[in-house]
Amino acid sequence: MTVRVGVLALQGDFREHLAMLRGLGVDAFEVRTPEELEAADALVIPGGESTTIGRLARIYGLLDPLRARIEAGTPVLGTCAGMIVLGAATTGPDQPQLGVLDVVVERNAFGRQVDSFEADLAVAGLDRPVHAVFIRAPWIAKVGAGVEVLAAVTDPETGEQHPVVVRQGNILATSFHPELTGDTRVHEMMLAMVEES
Ligand code: GLN
Repeated sequence: MTVRVGVLALQGDFREHLAMLRGLGVDAFEVRTPEELEAADALVIPGGESTTIGRLARIYGLLDPLRARIEAGTPVLGTCAGMIVLGAATTGPDQPQLGVLDVVVERNAFGRQVDSFEADLAVAGLDRPVHAVFIRAPWIAKVGAGVEVLAAVTDPETGEQHPVVVRQGNILATSFHPELTGDTRVHEMMLAMVEES
């Protein structure tokens, strides 16, 4: 059976996710309403502006249904702003978050060095490094006990390691944008989670 993946399409680069998923032979569609959410076997929360995505999700009545689906085990991939929306808190002011991923996220974490950059990143479970595109990206400031760190970067100022790819059960999140390169392996990791579930 064809896997049906709902991509939250309130703001941000949801079209790039749709294109990549369709290229993988998946039935990918836009989600803007709780009804559209129901048809999904898996979900993607794209990059964009996390405050905007969170506020629109609240206005569209999607925050609680999204949280319920993810807590019930529906696999989800959050990229960049999507990681922030999945998280429990940020190091900054409160904003609407789902709180399903037990992490504290620092928004625009690379801002002190460079706003946007690309790097080859080793990700646990993938044979070759991923060419990672970071755009005003977050990193994770604190991880909860149940969160597996699949990739991290070193803060050049402090030498501390900061997670940028994490998995917690059915939740996969990246600080970078796998949908912007031709490399489908992160999306395939999420699709493998559908097979597991
Ligand atoms: N800076 C954005 C935020 O904090 C995330 C950027 C992105 O998704 N590329 O919401």
